[in-house]
Amino acid sequence: MPEAASSDDETSDEPDQATESVHPLLEIQEIDTETEQLQHRRATLPLRRDLAATQSQQRELQREIDTVGLQRIEVLTRQKRLEDEAAIIQARADKDDNRLYSGEITAIRDLQALQDEIAGLRSRQGVLEERAIEALMEAEELSGQAEALEEQQAAAGERVTVLEAELAAARAAIDKQLATLVTTRTEVAGRIEASAVADYERLRETFGPSTAVAFDPSSGCGCPQQMPAIEVARIKRCAEGAVQNCAECGRLVLR
Ligand SMILES: [Zn+2]
Repeated sequence: MPEAASSDDETSDEPDQATESVHPLLEIQEIDTETEQLQHRRATLPLRRDLAATQSQQRELQREIDTVGLQRIEVLTRQKRLEDEAAIIQARADKDDNRLYSGEITAIRDLQALQDEIAGLRSRQGVLEERAIEALMEAEELSGQAEALEEQQAAAGERVTVLEAELAAARAAIDKQLATLVTTRTEVAGRIEASAVADYERLRETFGPSTAVAFDPSSGCGCPQQMPAIEVARIKRCAEGAVQNCAECGRLVLR
């Protein structure tokens, strides 16, 4: 059965005369141009921009999370200090209360002064406790902010994972196409002189995707300077498949 398939291939290969008339250098040139386009596309995939933007968003969110975290620590430190101060003042007020009722102070004026001091301490304690509660509420608000930021951060992280996978897949697909082109190019290059390929590769640096041109008896190589009639006649006399340099522009003219 595989024999039948291969004989089919051979018969269908027969009328390929038309495609074989395309000069191998032109095929190589086309492959090289396609390769360059694919390499450019690989290097400039829009996914790269999306990924970079999401990663920078991620870094920005991390900075905000860190800032909020530091603010929260500051606020909680303040809250603790206020509570400690309030506790110290409460202890002093309690001690004064005990002295007030201990009976050790008898003079009305001293009792009055002590009462005033206790009232002042209790009031100060109240202020401090109130400020401690405010700080605690502030810390809670910061916790809420941090939580919201962390959610956004997690979403950005997921998006980065997805984009990285998409980018890797897109690159792999292009790499596969590039590998196919390399194989085809090697095959095609095997059909002509290595020196012709070397000449073409050297000239491609100057002429890019129009380094090799099919000979056209009416216009020569299509170079900006019209090819002189004598040059046209010379190339016309060359054998089919010959590679000539255009005397005017230096491109490779394929007979
Ligand atoms: Zn020319």
